[in-house]
Amino acid sequence: MTLERTLVIIKPDGMQKNLTGVILKRFTEAGMRPIASKMMQLTEVILRDHYDFLVDKPFFPDILSYMQQCPVMLWVLEGENAIAKVRELLGPTDSKLAPKGTIRGDFGVDKSTNVVHASDSPVSAQKEIARFFRKEEIFG
Ligand code: ADP
Repeated sequence: MTLERTLVIIKPDGMQKNLTGVILKRFTEAGMRPIASKMMQLTEVILRDHYDFLVDKPFFPDILSYMQQCPVMLWVLEGENAIAKVRELLGPTDSKLAPKGTIRGDFGVDKSTNVVHASDSPVSAQKEIARFFRKEEIFG
């Protein structure tokens, strides 16, 4: 078991459905602890950086408009095997394929509108945490 940190973003559909409390409860009940938290209106600049591996995809303009629909909630969560554990709680990217009982399966719409982002590896977790939080904003 490894104590890890991961970055979570409640995407605009999760915000509009007022799911921040419900979703945080799922994470904390699984042993995750928030050590940093903020709300933020995402910009095109930060989204191009965050989704740099998708900028050439035909659906990238849709991601840009979806992710800027309203301010989002961000947390850094810490816990044992946090990166894999949180991804497991989310379910797969496509909400239609996500089993009931997962966050995307219960609240997501489809492949693009899928409620939550979470880091997918230790390398991306470190990069993503640094992208959205300054060191002094993390209380771990
Ligand atoms: P995940 O969020 O599960 O890590 P990816 O890193 O593959 O998934 O994709 C990042 C985000 O880009 C997805 O969560 C989704 O919002 C959007 N996305 C991915 N693939 C598609 C697609 N084929 N059509 C529309 N949006 C997509």
